[in-house]
Amino acid sequence: MDHHQIGKVTATRIAEREPFAEALTSFFPDMPKEAVTANTHWLAPHHYDLASQSLLLHFHSWLVRTEHHTILVDTCNGNHKPRAGYAMSDQLNTPFLERLNDAGAAPDDIDFVMCTHLHGDHVGWNTRLHNNEWVPTFPNATYLMSKIEHDTWAERAKDPARPERQRATYLDSVLPVVQRGMARMVEGAHAVDDSFTIHPAPGHTPGTCRADLASGGKHAMFCGDILHSPLQVEYWRINSRACEDQKMATQSRREVLSVCAERHGLLMPMHFGPPFVSYIRATPEGGFALDMNI
Ligand SMILES: [Zn+2]
Repeated sequence: MDHHQIGKVTATRIAEREPFAEALTSFFPDMPKEAVTANTHWLAPHHYDLASQSLLLHFHSWLVRTEHHTILVDTCNGNHKPRAGYAMSDQLNTPFLERLNDAGAAPDDIDFVMCTHLHGDHVGWNTRLHNNEWVPTFPNATYLMSKIEHDTWAERAKDPARPERQRATYLDSVLPVVQRGMARMVEGAHAVDDSFTIHPAPGHTPGTCRADLASGGKHAMFCGDILHSPLQVEYWRINSRACEDQKMATQSRREVLSVCAERHGLLMPMHFGPPFVSYIRATPEGGFALDMNI
C-alpha cells in the first residue's frame, strides 16, 4: 500500500500529519450532492467523514528511487511553521524525518526535491528550524520548481493584502533554498533523468507541474493537487475552491486522467486516503473511473 515498484523505480509513501477534515461543500462548492450519496460505500471512512460531511485530506510525500537519483516529491506542511488561523499546517510537530529514515533515506541522501506547486502543504519540509533560522532540510538536494510558480509567489509574498500564511510560506519554505542557490527553476517539460520527467499542468496554481515516471514499460504519475479527492476522477470537471484558473485546472485534470488511462499508469496524488493511489480507466461515455485494486 505504501510502496510501489514501477519498472526499475520504486515509490514509497512518507506520511506526515493525520488526515484533516474539510467540509465538502466548502472545499468543492460545485460538487453535486449525488456525488457523495452515490459513492458513500467506498468514500467512507477513509476519504469522507459521514458525521461531519467532510472530506478527509491525507498528507504525504513520495520518496522516489530511480536508477540514478533519490527524489522527494512534495514536502507536506513541515514542523514548527507558524500558520496562524490555519490549523491544517500551524505549528505541527510530526516525525516525518523519522519516517523518511525508516524508509531508508536520510535527508543527506535526497538528490532532488520536486515541488509540484508552492502551496504551504507541499513545501513545508523544504526547510527546518535550526538555531532560529529556516535552513534547507535536504542539504545535498536541488529543489526543482516551476519558474512561473516561483515568480508568482515571490511577487505575492511582497503584497501585504495577501494572507499572512501565504507570504510566510514563500519566505520560510522557498526563499531559503533560492537564496542558497539550491533551486532550479524549470520552464516547460524537464527530464530529471531517463525515468522522471516534469510537465507543466497549470490551473490549480499558475505553475503547477506533474511528474511522469516511466521505467521498463511501466508508468506512474505524481499529480500534486490537480486532484485532491478520488471523487474528482468521475467528477473531473469539479475544481476545488483552491483552484485559481477554473478552465485550465479542468483541462490539466482531464489530461492527467487521459494520460494515466492510456498508459495504464498509476496515479499518485498527495491527498488521497488509502490505498493512496489509483489506476484510471476511461469509460465508454468519455469519462473516467477509479481502479483502486492495487
Ligand atoms: Zn495540497
